[in-house]
Amino acid sequence: MRFAFQIEARDGRARQGRIDTPRGEIRTPAFMPVGTAATVKGMLPEQVRETGADILLGNTYHLMLRPSAERIADLGGLHKFMNWDRPILTDSGGFQVMSLANLRKLTEEGVRFASHVDGSRHMLTPERSMEIQRLLGSDIVMAFDECTPFPADEALARASMELSMRWAQRSREAFGDRPGYALFGIQQGSVYKDLRAESAEALTAIGFDGYAIGGLAVGEGQELMFDVLDYAPGQLPDDKPRYLMGVGKPDDIVGAVQRGVDMFDCVLPTRSGRTGQAWTARGSVNLRNARHRDDPRPLEEGCDCPACTKYSRAYLHHVVRLDEMIAGMLLTWHNLRYYQRLMAGLRGAIATARLDAFVAEFHALRAQGDIDPI
Ligand SMILES: [Zn+2]
Repeated sequence: MRFAFQIEARDGRARQGRIDTPRGEIRTPAFMPVGTAATVKGMLPEQVRETGADILLGNTYHLMLRPSAERIADLGGLHKFMNWDRPILTDSGGFQVMSLANLRKLTEEGVRFASHVDGSRHMLTPERSMEIQRLLGSDIVMAFDECTPFPADEALARASMELSMRWAQRSREAFGDRPGYALFGIQQGSVYKDLRAESAEALTAIGFDGYAIGGLAVGEGQELMFDVLDYAPGQLPDDKPRYLMGVGKPDDIVGAVQRGVDMFDCVLPTRSGRTGQAWTARGSVNLRNARHRDDPRPLEEGCDCPACTKYSRAYLHHVVRLDEMIAGMLLTWHNLRYYQRLMAGLRGAIATARLDAFVAEFHALRAQGDIDPI
């Protein structure tokens, strides 16, 4: 069985569809929870699946350092290692090596660096990134690229994009022909429309199974990101999935889906769940706040997750304040469930050609803010 993408419905520029892989179907638009170190923190894999996730994201940089790709391969691959038998997408390591590693040296060949954990020396190249992602057994492999920093003037953005396109070609060659597995190229070009177009053209000529829009959500802000998303998805092949890496807040996702993006990942629902912050249809809620201390109501009326069906705001406030482990577990579950309900809502709205009404309702509810204190 091969990797295949099918668009089932369109509403404006938005698309609803499915990706078929040997490890199962991915409904799009899709949100991928982040399992950085072979775990979605605080959740069992079957619980992550229960929230509605079809696919997880793993981080090449973290896994190559600990426990190492070779060790995971010897133990049967990442799916078996972490007990998740559905699709996994791994990033190329390029973004995190630039944001986390020490003593980085970027050359045409790749990036030489020292581990942020123990100072050990490593080299990531397109070829090594493809090898690591193959050892992990990743279903969707990302080409090795340089995430252009923001802001970048046009000359810098061009040089960075052109390097990434040469690395995309090397990634394609190193990946080879692996039926059932997919390789995604990554568009760069910062906020420059012409550079984005050139990048899309270069990637399309190489030929990938999907295309990511890279270099966004790096501090440019939502308005500028949406400006780029007004044209960037349309520069990429229509019949392949489009993935916006590292995005984002619920309203970022909704706006990007409207602009033709099919896949997302972000640490926000899981990371904020561990700090007492919940995401609901009426915006974000800080459970640490004293207003919840005597509140017997659920975190979010109508949510079917355990945090909302079995516990009160008062209980969640209590365990958040005491930094109990269950606080992070319950709020992570709720946040992932909220994100998946949002994605299901978007898919249903596109399928029935009522996305505009869905988005209007989404913004109207958020504008109301959280329910009044008791
Ligand atoms: Zn809930």
